[in-house]
Amino acid sequence: MKWSYSIAKIAGIDVRVHATFLLLLAWYGYSGYQAGGAAEATLSVFFILLLFLCVLLHEFGHAFAARAYGIRTPDITLLPIGGVARLERMPESPVQELVIAIAGPMVNVVIAAGLWLALGMPALFGRHFPFGNETRQLAFSLLQVNGMLVAFNLIPALPMDGGRVLRALLAMRMAHAAASRVAARISQGIAVGLALIGLFGIPDEVRSIPVLGTISLLFNSGSNPFLLFIAMFVFMGAQQEAAFAGMRTAVAGMRVADAMVTRFQTFLADMPLAQAMREAQDDLQPVYAVTDAHLRTVGMVLRNELLQAHPEATPTVGELARAVPTVRTDATFEEAFRLMQQSGSPVLPAVNPGGQVIGLVSLNLIQERMRKPR
Ligand SMILES: [Zn+2]
Repeated sequence: MKWSYSIAKIAGIDVRVHATFLLLLAWYGYSGYQAGGAAEATLSVFFILLLFLCVLLHEFGHAFAARAYGIRTPDITLLPIGGVARLERMPESPVQELVIAIAGPMVNVVIAAGLWLALGMPALFGRHFPFGNETRQLAFSLLQVNGMLVAFNLIPALPMDGGRVLRALLAMRMAHAAASRVAARISQGIAVGLALIGLFGIPDEVRSIPVLGTISLLFNSGSNPFLLFIAMFVFMGAQQEAAFAGMRTAVAGMRVADAMVTRFQTFLADMPLAQAMREAQDDLQPVYAVTDAHLRTVGMVLRNELLQAHPEATPTVGELARAVPTVRTDATFEEAFRLMQQSGSPVLPAVNPGGQVIGLVSLNLIQERMRKPR
């Protein structure tokens, strides 16, 4: 993610913070300072740091559950709106998706329960918590926000964890793409509901119903711009999830061979650079595969780099080529994507089982192919 910085590596997972997260800290420090001087500012910032520690632990909950199914998590990024654990691939079965989705909120349940026990099991909804000292007050606030994190994440709407649980439950009865569509529609319905609450608040008649009344304590009366923002986030996120799921099904059976170009120019590694430069002059191919005499890849070279190279420094094309991984023509798009990400090369040589280059595949070609599936 752009504008994010690595702060630690825990259990092989890169922990990153987004630059805007620091703005959030600064804002809390500033408003704390306005309210009660340096002591209050320190306390505000400390509280936000503790809150985000809870968010981080939540994301580690997802990551460790995914690891149990052999799915790696390269990084976790902390944003002002929460955390994002980037899983290397999607879970295969609904049960896996369900366990991974529920593992995050469960971490917050455990934290909240631990704090509740440590505080001597106080009443949660009354306003008469006997605050002993600042530490107890802080612990109680932390207990409350962990409760809110659970409630918020378990809203049964994509892209929230609750929405993933819903989709996993649906996917136990129907195909994954259909489950995604249904879950996305339900999510958008919920988003509209949230938007209405955000605009008009919760009417007093609803507040007087016992269970709903308790839930409605989470929302203030009257309009709530924050809720409107969440509703918009849910609505668009759900749309994206549905589109992504549809695309995944459409490309499920597709292989690199479906998206590669097979008419392309290659250079032999021992070809004199000057000759390759002359040939590239008349040819507009943006990137060339460089091979040995048996058509096995030595690397790739960009046309731009080739035209600007100096034959005195690198007498042959092979010396200019950079090594890249090859991808099998029967590999899935997902595998090709992963190789491109790992190598940082948007174009890869596609090889037959004998290791000979028979095509070139690029990110653009794959994306184009995904937009117009068979
Ligand atoms: Zn989560």
